[in-house]
Amino acid sequence: MTPLTIRFLGAAGTVTGSRFLVQAEGHTLLIDCGLFQGLKQLRLQNWEPLPFPAKEIEAVLLTHGHMDHTGYLPCLLQQGFRGPIYATAPTRAVTEIILRDSGKVQEEEAERANLHGYSKHAPAKPLYTIREAEKTLSHLQTVSQQEWLELFPEAGIRARWHYNGHILGACFIELEIAGKTLIFSGDIGRSDDMLLYPPHKPDKADLLLIESTYGNRLHPDEDVAERLAELAAETLSDGGSLLIPGFAVERTQTLLLLLSQLIRQKRLPSVPIILDSPMGSAVLKLFAEFPEWHKLSEADAQALTAGIHVVTQAQESLKIAKRQQPKIVLAGSGMLTGGRMLGYLLYELPNPASTVLLSGYQAEGTRGRDLLEGASHLKIQGVHYPVRARVEQLHGLSAHADQAGLLDWLSELSRAPEQLFIVHGEPDAALALQNRLAEAKGWQSQIAQAGEVLELTL
Ligand SMILES: [Zn+2]
Repeated sequence: MTPLTIRFLGAAGTVTGSRFLVQAEGHTLLIDCGLFQGLKQLRLQNWEPLPFPAKEIEAVLLTHGHMDHTGYLPCLLQQGFRGPIYATAPTRAVTEIILRDSGKVQEEEAERANLHGYSKHAPAKPLYTIREAEKTLSHLQTVSQQEWLELFPEAGIRARWHYNGHILGACFIELEIAGKTLIFSGDIGRSDDMLLYPPHKPDKADLLLIESTYGNRLHPDEDVAERLAELAAETLSDGGSLLIPGFAVERTQTLLLLLSQLIRQKRLPSVPIILDSPMGSAVLKLFAEFPEWHKLSEADAQALTAGIHVVTQAQESLKIAKRQQPKIVLAGSGMLTGGRMLGYLLYELPNPASTVLLSGYQAEGTRGRDLLEGASHLKIQGVHYPVRARVEQLHGLSAHADQAGLLDWLSELSRAPEQLFIVHGEPDAALALQNRLAEAKGWQSQIAQAGEVLELTL
């Protein structure tokens, strides 16, 4: 019998802020260390210290590099954490890009708030600085896929990372404690992803945490290339611009693949096609660096930006945004919480001829979600802009498994995990997955509650 304590410090009742604390055999580990995003009451939690002394955490294990799994790491260091942060090589590289950018964004936001006086706190301070983000990176240590990392051999604690097909480097984590197997799903990818291989599946678990982002949905069978071509034709023939907010990691590269194929097939009107995502461009380079982690050939990877104008400087970005000329723009951020796309929205949101094409999951409280829900105005940098542009969403590009995919991911387990927790989903999605698991497999599960502390015996 192995006693252990698990604390759900985030991604419970919501999709962001993944942080799971595990204590067993006298040791303390944190699985993922994400930032809360979206709703204000969630974002405010980023300013609160962990309800647990950070200096007692001996190591952090990362499933993947997304902000909602890594963005709180610098705060953990501010609170006294000094241990190693383990990640696969591509996750480490993605985390480096994401945290540097996050530090920059935090500094810029504080600066802007001070300049325009729209912060309630005077003076506004960044959550963390670029320097603090960089200090965090020196704690990153690389692990290999499928190989055991002996964390605390005397206590029988070790971990392995398994390919999960969600973004470059993404894995689920198998944590072994005194012979018991704990599985942390991280974010689970799709079996038919355009860039990545299908996710591996766990074959045993005494305790399992499964994400439920799309626990209540089945992805529609959508021909994304066709839809993209159609929307481009309709929007551009009206003299508008097609704006595609892309998640810098993965979605942007998938969209580039689709756009470059459409360009080659001459299925796009001849307007400038612009990639204005410094992070998206940086991640693109990682595809060349880690060829064994994705399906693209070297030639395919190189051809991704053929016929596409890649913007690097912020000055040029502002100039292009201002130009009243039909164009296709791919820029961040994916849920419009920040990034260069905001600069384009100022001009295109009020334009009824333009289209904003959202390309993935839009968390509650983000501008992307507001647009989907028919907002008549969007607030950007303290100013309200009317929404007259058309708003569309692509469903076929999600980086998450849908309900059927989640069930399939569990298909190699011969019996129900003794403890099965549903995490990383909004309440409806988590509940739908819980019901489906009971109905299809007869498995009982619990929906993790934010802040819950559970003392278990496995
Ligand atoms: Zn993710």
